[in-house]
Amino acid sequence: MPVVHLNGPTMGTTYNIKYVVENEDAIDDLQRKVDERLAEINKLMSTYDTTSELSRFNQYRYTDTFAVSDETQLVVTEALRLGELSDGVLDITVGPLVNLWGFGPNKRPAQIPTQAEIDEVRNFVGLDKVAVSDSGLTKRHPMVYVDLSTIAKGYGVDQIAELLERHGLKNYLIEIGGEMRVRGHRGNGDPWLIAIEKPVTTERAIQKVVSIGRNAIATSGDYRNYYEDDGVRYSHLIDPRTGRPISHNLVSVTVVHPYSMTADGLATAINVMGWEQAISLAEEQGLAVLLIRKTDDGFEEYISSEFDKIVDVHN
Ligand code: ADP
Ligand code: MG
Repeated sequence: MPVVHLNGPTMGTTYNIKYVVENEDAIDDLQRKVDERLAEINKLMSTYDTTSELSRFNQYRYTDTFAVSDETQLVVTEALRLGELSDGVLDITVGPLVNLWGFGPNKRPAQIPTQAEIDEVRNFVGLDKVAVSDSGLTKRHPMVYVDLSTIAKGYGVDQIAELLERHGLKNYLIEIGGEMRVRGHRGNGDPWLIAIEKPVTTERAIQKVVSIGRNAIATSGDYRNYYEDDGVRYSHLIDPRTGRPISHNLVSVTVVHPYSMTADGLATAINVMGWEQAISLAEEQGLAVLLIRKTDDGFEEYISSEFDKIVDVHN
């Protein structure tokens, strides 16, 4: 059966979709429908688009409830659930700290922030600083800023999966900026194969090739997204417990889960946690997780029980 490949730009990155044609009828305008759906999501949740719904909420400096779409409400609800699950390390209000450290829309800082600057920003950072309800989002401090970039790509993947399903497609691979979700096979009956990269900056090499059944997969690691200042490497992930970029030896976290949004958020959360806390959470919650940490003489892997159960490793 023929495989169709669609790709294009979205969310500051690219999307790639492959699907197996189920019958002879071509699907009219599928790419246009994909582009429209992704544009809708961006119009709601992008922090790069200053006119998006989320940006308007962020610009709103009041503490009464700001009405938002059902979609934004749903994504914020899931983000807060994952925040709680991860003991507050996945924190969608961390944006001002992200910006302070130079990874937000205003990019790299002129200099490393001082402790006083960090403390000041932390007055309006924290999961208790935002509430979600059917009537919308509420700030507990006028300066609260919500950043959904850690789960929005995954949400986009899930929405494209729904769109393909509505068109009767059952064999597909969807990827946005590294967030991936698959179902079925790749045309010849074989499962979709996914390469998990080696956590190195010098080359693009493969750590593992896996197939994941009908699931999504997300990898969080800052071997690509970081900056250096005086020889110190600064991660793009902020640990809300310290207000500073994470600095530990856990270099790559891969999560497999039915929903891309959840896999995306969990990968980031587990990365922020660090090796030991990550292992406890994965085993406690039965999460399918692959961790890689840097050791003195190379890398060490940890594969959770659930990962071992649901993921096939091909190398
Ligand atoms: P990764 O895939 O490496 O986990 P993502 O691109 O999914 O990274 O998310 C990283 C973005 O999430 C950062 O650029 C920042 O905007 C935001 N972020 C950083 N730290 C946190 C945190 N502790 N909780 C939630 N979002 C965060
Ligand atoms: Mg992520």
